[in-house]
Amino acid sequence: MSARPASLLSVTDSLLIAIDGPSGSGKSSTSRGVAQRLGLAYLDTGSLYRAAAIAFLESGLEASQADEVAKLVRGARIVPGTDPTNPSISLDGRDVTDEIREPRVSAKVSAIATNLAVREALTRQFRQIIADHDRRIVVEGRDITTVVAPDADLRILLVADPAARIARRQAELGGAVDTAQVTDQVVRRDRDDATVSQFEEPAEGVELVDSTFLNLDEVIDKICGMVPTHD
Ligand code: C5P
Repeated sequence: MSARPASLLSVTDSLLIAIDGPSGSGKSSTSRGVAQRLGLAYLDTGSLYRAAAIAFLESGLEASQADEVAKLVRGARIVPGTDPTNPSISLDGRDVTDEIREPRVSAKVSAIATNLAVREALTRQFRQIIADHDRRIVVEGRDITTVVAPDADLRILLVADPAARIARRQAELGGAVDTAQVTDQVVRRDRDDATVSQFEEPAEGVELVDSTFLNLDEVIDKICGMVPTHD
């Protein structure tokens, strides 16, 4: 380690940044901002879980058919874009970038994400994408700091008070959804997700960043300031 600023890092240096956090913590905007600032690729792992949820919703399967659901997801061609200025995702050649944000998808995604065989398949895909980008990428999700990339160069757990998270999600949805639905999407979903991923407390070596009283630029500044430099 040295005091060399991040901007002087060689473009060939590995710089894998893992960011986990609950819904509405500002993970996506923050991760995209950090990736843009540092010239890194960007992977929103939640978008793959959401695309898998669309495949599931269209399949007619029940979540209890765990093996069939995992087989369905393994067979689906889910391709995320990794440009932080233009996040996108396709499912079997169909652009589902907007569809993955629909409330019916948010309501079902935990049913997919709690299937351990689905997690294993998607985790394998995330690691391949990280390798394909020579480990120069910001990866965000629920279990990136602990399972997908515990060896990341910087590991962050981004948190915010529940009231702030619900208000942010509601603003994102443009008031189209009532508070009870948003609360379900944030609080209930986190509770379900927490049964398979540990993102409520930072694991050892993971830095805690609380965004409750910070604006987006302040959070991005803070994380960029934590980037380690190599000799
Ligand atoms: O981040 P986002 O809210 O879009 O994630 C959607 C869902 O995908 C989460 O609620 C969770 O069920 C699942 N997920 C996960 N592990 C990740 C990323 C997302 O289980 N690494």
